[in-house]
Amino acid sequence: MISKTLSSQRQMIEKTIKDKPRLQAVDRTGLLDTPEEVGFDRLTKLASMLLKTPISFVTLLVEDRDFIKSQHGLPELIANDRNIRDHPSFCQHIISHRKPLVLTDARLDPLFADLPSVKNMGVVAYAGIPLIDDDGFALGTCCVLDFTPRVWLDEEITILTELAASVMTEINLRKATLKLIDESAAKDIFIQAASHELRTPITSLKALAQFNTKRYEKLGQEAVANSFDSMHHQVARLDRLITKMLDVSRLQEGGLPLTLETCSLSEIVSEMVNEIRLITPRTVTLTTSATNDRVSVDRDKIGQVITNLVMNALHYSPEESPIDINISSTDLLCRVEVKDYGIGIPPDAQGRIFERFYRVPHSEGNQHPGLGLGLHLSYHIILEHRGELTVLSQLGQGSIFIMALPIINRE
Ligand code: ADP
Repeated sequence: MISKTLSSQRQMIEKTIKDKPRLQAVDRTGLLDTPEEVGFDRLTKLASMLLKTPISFVTLLVEDRDFIKSQHGLPELIANDRNIRDHPSFCQHIISHRKPLVLTDARLDPLFADLPSVKNMGVVAYAGIPLIDDDGFALGTCCVLDFTPRVWLDEEITILTELAASVMTEINLRKATLKLIDESAAKDIFIQAASHELRTPITSLKALAQFNTKRYEKLGQEAVANSFDSMHHQVARLDRLITKMLDVSRLQEGGLPLTLETCSLSEIVSEMVNEIRLITPRTVTLTTSATNDRVSVDRDKIGQVITNLVMNALHYSPEESPIDINISSTDLLCRVEVKDYGIGIPPDAQGRIFERFYRVPHSEGNQHPGLGLGLHLSYHIILEHRGELTVLSQLGQGSIFIMALPIINRE
């Protein structure tokens, strides 16, 4: 009779352990074969301390093994291997019944007396709680054991159940993080694909607008030339936005490729300022006291940072106020300061404006449409050049963005 029960038990265990949707649920935790982690280790240690047991552990069960995610007190051999391969195991039993298992003396129970852990390791008392996810899949166990008989108090089983719930919270947190990473990667792939697709028509449009501006200028048709010119500027704006989006997603993938050349930082700033002056009636002053401005940079990318800083300065300051740009140098650094006399940035937001997608919650009239990508990108471009981008700002007074790059070729 007992052997019949045993064999039907084994069959039931086999079936549950190998159930595909359950295995997929274990896989979705992203925890299989991951190293030890403080978050889980604290909980197993706590289980041993509170229940006064020599051994406690958390497992995740797959087809051929019980992976030990966390343990306290296990013999070195098992602790190092981090897998229980001698089956059947207590954990397998719990998974197939989806219920806590509490044993005072496993040697006296015909269902468990022959388990390898009882016969070979000398386990006597055991208590384990199944780890069940929100979809109802039994993923693993949170358990404690002892080498002498032990009557487990209700209170102790309640504590173990609470600890198992905390383990599940850790697992759910991990799953949520993995989901976010997946979604963010999918978003980056989409942005890259969409940006590449947009690039080609935009390049043709830009060339066409430029060609027609010149053509109608020559024909003396100024109004038409002007409208093509403004079309050219709008398309160029779109182009800059696409570059920004592409660069941000490249940054997510691990860095922006830079094409470095040695050049004068003042020259790049001056080129950018001249371009900006063409599209704004505002006063943009440029002064320099730099005695050395030779830097090794990616011209386009540094130009992009300067444009971003000056455009922001224009967007967030009153029409009648100027933007002052100053270039200076020390022995080691060349600094560019972009100063506006605008709305300023609140102190608590100053630490966050370089984050991806962060936008300062300015009052409605002061908000300019944008994605919160420009400063994030600028910060990382400067960082990749081994420089620094910082901000000084006072609400209602204005802001100074300071970009510092290492000087090369001291003269
Ligand atoms: P966006 O495209 O949203 O302007 P940025 O990354 O360039 O993105 O800027 C992030 C946020 O920082 C902006 O939304 C704005 O709230 C704030 N900001 C940037 N520059 C200034 C400035 N000169 N004065 C005030 N606020 C600024």
